Order: sequence, then C-alpha cells, then structure tokens
Amino acid sequence: MSKKALSDLAPSDLAGHTVVVRADLNVPVKDGVVTDDTRIQASVPTLRLLIGAGTRVVLLSHLGRPKGGREPKYSLAPVATRMGDVLGRPLRFVSESAGPAARDAVASLAPGEVVLLENTRFLPGDEGNDAGLAKDWASLGDLFVNDAFGAAHRAHASTSGLAEAMRAKGGLAVAGLLMAKELEYLGGALDRPEKPFVAILGGAKISGKIDVIEALLPRVDRLLIGGAMANTFFRALGLQTGASLVEDDRVEIARATLAKAADRILLPVDCVVASDIAEGVATRVVERSQVGSCDRIGDIGPATREIFAREIAGARTIVWNGPMGVFEVGAFAEGTLAIAQYMARACDGGAVGVLGGGDSAAAAEKAGVVERLSHVSTGGGASLEFLAGAKLPGVVALNEAD
Ligand code: ADP
Ligand code: MG
Repeated sequence: MSKKALSDLAPSDLAGHTVVVRADLNVPVKDGVVTDDTRIQASVPTLRLLIGAGTRVVLLSHLGRPKGGREPKYSLAPVATRMGDVLGRPLRFVSESAGPAARDAVASLAPGEVVLLENTRFLPGDEGNDAGLAKDWASLGDLFVNDAFGAAHRAHASTSGLAEAMRAKGGLAVAGLLMAKELEYLGGALDRPEKPFVAILGGAKISGKIDVIEALLPRVDRLLIGGAMANTFFRALGLQTGASLVEDDRVEIARATLAKAADRILLPVDCVVASDIAEGVATRVVERSQVGSCDRIGDIGPATREIFAREIAGARTIVWNGPMGVFEVGAFAEGTLAIAQYMARACDGGAVGVLGGGDSAAAAEKAGVVERLSHVSTGGGASLEFLAGAKLPGVVALNEAD
C-alpha cells in the first residue's frame, strides 16, 4: 500500500499523543440497541492498539443519514454502550459532535482512554466538507487515523477534510488497521492477483455495477454473472426473461460488454423460476432458453452452480459482489449459499477470496462462511467504487508511505 499506515508507526510515535480516529460505526440500531455489531468489532483492533500504546483516543463516526441536524434515532449513544462491552470497559460518550463540550472531554482524558463524540453528521459541515469543522476536529489531537473504509468514497469533513487539516498543522494522517486491510485485500486482488482470477458479480442491477464490470474485465480470467444482472445479459442474447427484473435501458451495454469479452464471461445456463418471488411459491428449474412469459427468475439453477463451482475451485484469486438470486427468500437462496460454500472451499485450499457488498456479506453470514473467506469488506459502496477503479478521497488525503 502506498499510504502510511498505523502499523508503520513506532510505539514512541504514539505514547502520550492524542489521536483522532474516524471509524465506520454505522451499524443498525433498533429501539436504542445495536442489532449487528460487525462494524464495531471490525474497528476494535485499531482502538486496542492505540489504547495499548498509551494514547488518548477521540473517536468519530457517522450513523445513518440524518438531514444535517440532531435526530435522536441516529444517536451514537447505543454504539458507545456496545463498544464499551466489546472493549471490556466503558468508554466516554459526549452528546456533542464537536465544539467546547468535545474539547473539555478530550482535555480530561487519561492515557489509554477513549471518548466517542456524537454522530458527525448531526453537523451539516461534515457532509459539506466544511474546512472550519475539519480544522476543529483536527485541533483535538496531533495524529489522525482514518479507519472508516466504508466512508472513504466520500469527501467529508470527518474523512478527507480532517486528514488535510491534520497534515496542514503538521500532524500525520494514516490508515488504521481495518482501512489498511481493506486496501491490501481489495487492492491486491486488482493490482497483483494470483491467476486464475475469477470475479463473480450478481445482485439486483447492472446499472450500479457497470463500472465494476468494465474495470474487472481486463484483469480477470473469468467473470461469472448471476442475480438479476444476468437477466439483462439474457436479453442481450435475445432470450426471453418473462416477468423477471430486467433493466431495459442497459440491454445495449450488456450486448456491448458481451461483444468485447464473450470468451471470459460466463452467464447462467439454467434458472430457478416461479410465478412470484415469495416464500412458499412453487418453483421450477428451467434452461435459460425456456423461461415462460409469466415466469420470474429468482436464482441460478443446478447446472449453473456446477459450472460456477468448477471455475471457483480452479481459481487462485476470487472477488465476489452481489447475490446470485433473491437469497432473502428460502426458495431462491440455494445458488447464493452454494457460491459462498465454493468460495470458502477455495479459500481453505489457499486461494485469496474477497467479498464486497452489504447484501453479499449478509449472504456469507447466512452461509456461515465468513471466517473462512480471506476478507469480507465492511464497505459496501466504498468497496464497489474501489473495485471500479475510483480513487477514494478518504484514502487519497492520507500521508504517503515513506
Ligand atoms: P450487494 O449489497 O452485495 O452489493 P446488491 O445490493 O447489488 O448486492 O444486490 C442484492 C439484491 O439483489 C438482493 O436483495 C437480492 O434479492 C437481489 N437479487 C438478486 N438476484 C435477483 C433476481 N434474480 N431478481 C430480483 N432480485 C435479485
Ligand atoms: Mg445492496
């Protein structure tokens, strides 16, 4: 990685310092309780390192999408509680996002203590990338650690703005352990994949992922396509898709993509169809040329699973984004869960397998394979933009490695 990382710093660079950490603690909260703490857990290694090094830690994060003002349902207070449980000791919480209350709390921190400030997006200047706000946050410490990969594709005051403000006053802005891991795995797959390199794309739409297809195609040996995305490609082949989800305005792009790389793209050969995508419906397996006018395609079929299994088993690098079907509904989950198993098996055998995307991560969780995959990205939109070759502002703004 070309950016300076927290792991590059010596203990003496840290001890006694006050570190501003931007984490991605954007977790689901219901009735004041965190319902999935994956992102909290993922942020803990950086915090433990800083606590162990005797730094004072000022922790920043956004949660949800408040409209530039205080909204109680987006308070980080429940996150503070859960973070305290995970760290094994309570951490301080300040119900202001910046300003004098934050400054006072930071001034009273002892080495090894953590204070979490309220949701950065309660201040409109965060998303507005307000330079004054970034400077205010930078003034709270003398080192900035950006660990919020999931927010790195946004140029906000608490991400790129804060990094720039910290560097402007002579401090370092470095990647946290999670950020570095994300960049290492996603970047490694793109820049120096061990071959064969197989990418698997699925999910609801082509439109959000056409850039990913374009960026991956020249690098991969095989691109396996499933999910509703495959339906649009079916139409490009002149096949009927019945009542399935199709993006009519993307059929041309799909046709052009196939024309460029038909030898590397594998589409499903069969599908699981039903009259409705709902729990308990009667399903049929049909060849892709036999989809009826009232059919909805909900999953890849067994023959496709076998073809994809072989490709994945032979791969040394695998990148997967997007479910193969409507895995939230039992009758259409098999394709996605099978792919998760094939990928886990490949990783058991030494392949590097990287998974990106919020729904895909949920599918891997459902399949029980998360621990066996090389890396499950915590950043949905950010990982997609990264795979599409975009420069992420939250990364760009960090110091270069020596
Ligand atoms: P990710 O969050 O992993 O990037 P997406 O958001 O792109 O994935 O796509 C996930 C959604 O795609 C899931 O909700 C799933 O139900 C839907 N999907 C997958 N296959 C189909 C299909 N054949 N028809 C309709 N929806 C589908
Ligand atoms: Mg999604």
